[in-house]
Amino acid sequence: MSRLRVAIQKSGRLSERSQEVLKSCGLKFARSKDKLFWYGQDFPVDLLLVRDDDIPRLLLDGVCELGIVGENIAMEVMLERDGRDQLHCLRKLGFGHCRLSIAVPEERGCASISELQGMRIATSYPELTRHLLKEQNVQATIVELSGSVEIAPGLGTADAISDLVSTGTTLRANHLRELDVLFRSEAALYGRIDGISAAKRELLDRLLARLEGVMQAAESKYVMLHAPREALQKITELLPGVEHPSVMPLEGSDRIAVHAVCGEKVFWEHLEALKAAGASAILVLPVEKMLA
Ligand code: ATP
Ligand code: ZN
Repeated sequence: MSRLRVAIQKSGRLSERSQEVLKSCGLKFARSKDKLFWYGQDFPVDLLLVRDDDIPRLLLDGVCELGIVGENIAMEVMLERDGRDQLHCLRKLGFGHCRLSIAVPEERGCASISELQGMRIATSYPELTRHLLKEQNVQATIVELSGSVEIAPGLGTADAISDLVSTGTTLRANHLRELDVLFRSEAALYGRIDGISAAKRELLDRLLARLEGVMQAAESKYVMLHAPREALQKITELLPGVEHPSVMPLEGSDRIAVHAVCGEKVFWEHLEALKAAGASAILVLPVEKMLA
């Protein structure tokens, strides 16, 4: 029988959420503590646990069909291969958010990226950095480092850095100032799926449909409320991402019950606006699963 292989990060920032998202698609694995291969039970999808940097190459080399990795790494490897080999981004996964930013020493009076012309920039993402700077007509000397990029300016080996940032704490600790964002990244499911067999394609489609359901459910809320009948149109407009709510009469009352799945985030501001439009007994519930 056909099976699919998904590569995920073994340990690091993406590993836990990568496992979680696959588990919420109904995948179960016979895991072995130190082994790099987890066998998929019930659903024929197996896991390969590796370093995140290896994931795009494993896909391109045909070792696995799918992989969960940051867009930063996928882009770097695709550029490295000069666009000859393409991976498909099948679904962004809503975690692992970070940005590739240019940072300079705090005391450096540099106001924009254009002033980096001809300077030395330390980075672990040489291809992506070179490519994005070139798009802004900046030609810099790339100093490639595999780690601890943030200490390069202090050591005098670079004038600026291009590094991943999420909170900025590391930059501040090293007296660096974020000058500009080059690229925004999050974890995504990538595939090398051209020319796979029909049986694998069918498996992939089932997995993607489940994943879509999981992602939509995570973003959706089920909202229930009571409202005056004449306020229905106004209430519908105020429910984020809703066109056709379910409307039910309330026994012995001239008010109605309105139920709807909101496809977008529901904030306190939405609830306050609904209340102001006459709604009461407003409940917001999480959605666990969804299949369109
Ligand atoms: P590995 O041992 O698998 O090579 P690593 O040290 O290269 O691990 P992590 O630090 O776990 O990788 O980061 C994995 C991914 O998490 C990054 O490629 C990036 O997409 C994302 N990420 C999110 N926030 C950050 C951050 N603040 N710094 C670095 N990466 C981040
Ligand atoms: Zn890595």
